[in-house]
Amino acid sequence: MTKAAVEITHLTYVYPPDRVALREINLRIAPGEHVALVGPNGAGKSTLLWHLNGLLIGQGEVRILGTPLTPQTARRVRHQVGLVFQAPQDQLFCPTVFEDVAYAPLYAGLPPAEVEARVRAALDQVGMRTHAARSPLHLSLGEQKRVALATVLVMQPAILALDEPTAGLDPRGRRELIALLQTLPQTLILATHDLDLVRRVCPRTVVLDGGVIVADGPTAQILGDTTFLLAHGLA
Ligand code: ADP
Repeated sequence: MTKAAVEITHLTYVYPPDRVALREINLRIAPGEHVALVGPNGAGKSTLLWHLNGLLIGQGEVRILGTPLTPQTARRVRHQVGLVFQAPQDQLFCPTVFEDVAYAPLYAGLPPAEVEARVRAALDQVGMRTHAARSPLHLSLGEQKRVALATVLVMQPAILALDEPTAGLDPRGRRELIALLQTLPQTLILATHDLDLVRRVCPRTVVLDGGVIVADGPTAQILGDTTFLLAHGLA
């Protein structure tokens, strides 16, 4: 069996003092899979994403490409998982787009020439190269979301985890983002309420409700079951 991109076993997470956000999660995602994580508000989707790069560490085990995530390995493993937050302003804080995308590779100590080449490649990938000198504050939300994705792509992670990537986008911004996500070769995990995005990008869907996985299977099958979707606040 090939090494899983993500392997989660018996993961439980409790926000202090007693809010159980995830309960006994078991999930295996193969390299290159595109998986949607859906569920009503409060289901635990963001909490689960935050476990993929060690922002949170719960009870149980999370393995990334075979390495168990622990406080000791989190720094190294973090480079393999690019986490894109729902709000781009949580990820963008530099005076220019270029500096924002260059921040992580510079911080990781990569040589300036390589940083520059990577930044250009990442901005090309998200279609934002011509905006490199602009302030992220002056971009549209769709453009900010693409730059936030570039800040993560620049580290060339094997796994991408995106929280509500289409939330708040206008129809064109949404279409462009979906087209971009469809081209990404990485393992992709999307937490979203956008079931059309799920249909277009993710052959597999995992449904979370109340911190528990209530379904995991082919997207066409899960999204075709209206009664099930309604029961979990999704239709
Ligand atoms: P989702 O992303 O599916 O909306 P979350 O992962 O944000 O769900 O939340 C899961 C549960 O954990 C919810 O009951 C939420 O209220 C709770 N929760 C989230 N963040 C915190 C926090 N910082 N402190 C306490 N409870 C939290």
